[in-house]
Amino acid sequence: ETFEAFNLHQDLLAGIQAMGYKSPTPIQQQAIPEILANKDMIACAQTGTGKTAAYLLPLLDKISHASHDHTSTLILVPTRELAKQIDEQIEGFAYFVSAQSIAIYGGNKGDSWDAQKKAITSGADIIVATPGRFIAHMNMGYVKLDKLEYLILDEADKMLDMGFMDDIMRIVRHLPQKRQTLLFSATMPGKIRELARKILHNPTEISL
Ligand code: AMP
Repeated sequence: ETFEAFNLHQDLLAGIQAMGYKSPTPIQQQAIPEILANKDMIACAQTGTGKTAAYLLPLLDKISHASHDHTSTLILVPTRELAKQIDEQIEGFAYFVSAQSIAIYGGNKGDSWDAQKKAITSGADIIVATPGRFIAHMNMGYVKLDKLEYLILDEADKMLDMGFMDDIMRIVRHLPQKRQTLLFSATMPGKIRELARKILHNPTEISL
């Protein structure tokens, strides 16, 4: 199996090659065609399986064909470490594609708020955020979500463990109904199923 088989944008293939990825992992093989086909998805996947690229690659492919004047993609994650990692992976893949991303997370330095606000108002293609900090920006009223097309919840079980359920639902209520939603979780307890029932539409289910 090769990445060429997915018919991805040439510039993205160049980014994949630059990252040193030779062939897709099993979750990438399963998820990429479904996401390219605009399906909602619930995926049970551990860290280390290549789950991040499984959703980033098809999303970047779609974004590379779109206009870059608005935020189309919101990726919600439990921790700032994960937000930073994902943002770095996007930068790696998108080196040859024009896609802007910004990581939004709370911190103890308190100096990143203005930079985050600037990136939000400038309409970065992709926002990678922890729910609490994202809500804080949302409450200030300058986050534009009316053109959002893709919502991804990564490590959803961990977000629920950390008490982010209410924040997630508050954010989702501000998003367009017509969107593609992808939920990734290492475990599938009842609370995750319940969240999936609320926010996913006819999802494809992937489990490894
Ligand atoms: P993840 O499961 O998304 O945390 O990814 C685990 C690690 O595998 C990361 O360091 C990725 O950069 C790497 N990785 C993901 N997909 C591939 C691939 N197809 N080939 C080689 N490395 C990969």
